[in-house]
Amino acid sequence: MHNNNSLSESITALQGALFINGQFRQGAGPRLPVENPATGEVLGHIASATAQEIEEAVSAAHHAFAAWSRELPKTRASALHRLGDLISADALNMAQIMTAEQGKPVNEAKGEVLKLAEACHFYAEEATRVHGEIVPNDQPGFQSLVVREPIGVVAAITPWNYPAELVGWKLCASLAAGCTIVIKPAELTPYTALAIAQKCLEAGIPAGVVNVLTGQGSQVGQALVEHPQVSKVAFTGSSAVGLHIQRTCPQVKRLSLELGGNCPMVVTASADLDAAVKGAARRSFRNCGQICIAINRIYVHRSIYPAFLSKLGAAADALSVHNGLEHPAADLGAMASAEPLNKTRAHLEDALAKGARLIAGGKAPEGAEYANGHFMRPTVVADCTHQMLVMSEETFGPLVGVAPFDDLAEAIALANDTPYGLASYAYARDLTEIHTLSAGLDYGNVAINNVDAGIMNAPYGGRKQSGVGYEHGREGLLEYFNFKHVRLHHGVGN
Ligand code: NAD
Repeated sequence: MHNNNSLSESITALQGALFINGQFRQGAGPRLPVENPATGEVLGHIASATAQEIEEAVSAAHHAFAAWSRELPKTRASALHRLGDLISADALNMAQIMTAEQGKPVNEAKGEVLKLAEACHFYAEEATRVHGEIVPNDQPGFQSLVVREPIGVVAAITPWNYPAELVGWKLCASLAAGCTIVIKPAELTPYTALAIAQKCLEAGIPAGVVNVLTGQGSQVGQALVEHPQVSKVAFTGSSAVGLHIQRTCPQVKRLSLELGGNCPMVVTASADLDAAVKGAARRSFRNCGQICIAINRIYVHRSIYPAFLSKLGAAADALSVHNGLEHPAADLGAMASAEPLNKTRAHLEDALAKGARLIAGGKAPEGAEYANGHFMRPTVVADCTHQMLVMSEETFGPLVGVAPFDDLAEAIALANDTPYGLASYAYARDLTEIHTLSAGLDYGNVAINNVDAGIMNAPYGGRKQSGVGYEHGREGLLEYFNFKHVRLHHGVGN
């Protein structure tokens, strides 16, 4: 059970706050409410950053870049290690802040905070291993050095589903590379980002290197995209807003876009059925399906289709749904707002109207605990077709559609029948099937016989309408560098 007093003290300290040039201050702009999605209670208000405050934050980041980019990598690495230590030491408090604004159960939120700490340590180590290259020349007496230089000021614009990690990957990679950053977190989950800024201050990260501006995407986010001193936009969010950013960015600048998905899972006749069901239940329903790599649709070989459906239905029914602050170990908490809940309901109604069969869930859990929050039971629908929204659009809720298939080529064609290309999953034990699936699935991430596509030291990114660029791994760090070719005539060997 959480400690109400310390949580409300933590949130009170962040009311109306902006973090600019190493200082917290009260924003001058209009206030926006932040709600607890499990109860509907207003937790507090944030300030919508004004044009003047945006200017001050970008200018602070711009000035800080000159010194931060020249710091020894070891110095930047030490700062990141300190940040990681401070975050893990306060993980429970930060997790409760996240649960209060986002809804996921505290234990799950704490896991996310600890993964942010891990990202700090990972990028601290990577910071000291940024190597250039000496490349062969076309004439004697020349040497070509390919060096990596930090891009400059980064604007990080992030969604509400993973309020710590999605800020953190951009923050850690920026700090490691020598970039400075202005973070604009989602309107629903600003307090987690401000709590991260508190840790940056405690870690002694120099003023201006990290800044946090709260407010609406269409105003504060858009102003950052358009700012001439912002050299890179690192965006995670919906495909629609990502495309809008690409279209409206008025200068040439680096963009990385981590966007939406509509992720498939294929279960072949050779699969370990119980493992596949366990994976499907985890990746369809964790964080109420509000994850860009959630399994949206499952194709199951006809020979095991009835068994798979009954086991997945039972697994969904066994998951607990609760207020995540009161029940830290619940499987699912509240959904983050009415919007994803309404979309999930619309996808469910559409599927049922077009002939899908309800296997589990389909409604809110019953009882007073759920009366004022955005709750939904994990839901499975069967006999789905690609005419249904659940099979063709990103649901972003605790709903998964299932369909049978007869041969693997058909399953792969169905899995790839989408404008998205973020993550895909497959369960199979036959080696030929495994190779056919890993080669044939047109996705940036393919997880086979597991459902955890993202690990810290491998690149994570989408293709097609799921985005451009990578986070995680060495590739994620390279997104924050320009390459410079220095061609030097030394005359030796002429
Ligand atoms: P969203 O696109 O509505 O908002 C994301 C961020 O963009 C928010 O901070 C918002 O304020 C800001 N924004 C909105 N309009 C803007 C504008 N005109 N200019 C600049 N910024 C603007 O997304 P959301 O609803 O917060 O998040 C859910 C979406 O994020 C889903 O589609 C999900 O798949 C996607 N997502 C993708 C990944 C990934 O790694 N590919 C990870 C998590 C979430």
